Amino acid sequence: MDKAKRRTLKVLGSTLGAAAFAYAIEPLRAWASDMSLGELLQKHYRELTPDEMRAVLARLEADAEAKYGREVTIEDIRPTPGVELGYALNLSVCIGCRKCAEACHVENNHDRTTNNSYIRVLEMEQGSFDLEKGTTTYDHAVPSPGKYYLPVQCQQCDNAPCVKVCPVQATWKESDGIVVVDYNWCIGCRYCEAACPYHARRFNWSKPEIPAEEINPNQSYLSNRVRPQGVVEKCTFCLHRTRKGLLPACLEACPTGARVFGNLLDPNSEIRWVLAHKRVYVLKEELGTRPRFFYYFDN
Ligand code: SF4
Ligand code: SF4
Repeated sequence: MDKAKRRTLKVLGSTLGAAAFAYAIEPLRAWASDMSLGELLQKHYRELTPDEMRAVLARLEADAEAKYGREVTIEDIRPTPGVELGYALNLSVCIGCRKCAEACHVENNHDRTTNNSYIRVLEMEQGSFDLEKGTTTYDHAVPSPGKYYLPVQCQQCDNAPCVKVCPVQATWKESDGIVVVDYNWCIGCRYCEAACPYHARRFNWSKPEIPAEEINPNQSYLSNRVRPQGVVEKCTFCLHRTRKGLLPACLEACPTGARVFGNLLDPNSEIRWVLAHKRVYVLKEELGTRPRFFYYFDN
């Protein structure tokens, strides 16, 4: 697909209603399915056969090496049956150091020039729960008296508004509860970014710049491969790690043990212990998004 066609799609996506847009691009989708592997309209992730997926991954690995000068491995890692992942965060021990956000930046191959991360750590007034009043730009020593710290990333909503508004189904919830984006199917209309009540989605305004030696070479299709310019991205609970039984990078980086992660369906998991023994709450519960990210205090 040449750049002009891609631009046309983007304009269509940002000006038409969702249903009208999906209808408008249907002929293009059919046409694209006959292409080898086009830059933009390769088949949707969920329509790729195993052989097609292998070819896509090989092409993406070659592209990554050509663009960034680093050999990488890009896997397609699927959810494990019987696993639904959840996260909890103890606000009594979070000190606002932002080590989690820094770890996310490195692990997920974020653009270095914008210092992007999927985690925003909000400095909040004690007693306030209004997210919109928190600040992310504090630069004094932490923790600061009278404040507490509220890290916010994708809440992996069970009833995700971002998924509902996507006109081309480029984002969806997987069986383990992780909401993902097919970066090759996303048309960059940013409807999902506007629909997310937690400001958890990011738009790639420019081609990500990352020095070869700083690239994390352990990548997956739906998570931390370097995303193209012009698409939306978000936290995936580090699915390239957590679907292999590892912990998210942000959890491993936290110096205070504020973060708890695990299988919500496992009655012996630490996160189930937290849910059973702490008074947990979710952000903006009144919206009915049903987050899989829980917060609690020690008392
Ligand atoms: S937090 Fe935002 S991006 Fe994440 S699932 Fe919920 S609505 Fe979507
Ligand atoms: S690394 Fe841990 S303590 Fe530091 S801001 Fe993140 S969650 Fe809070």
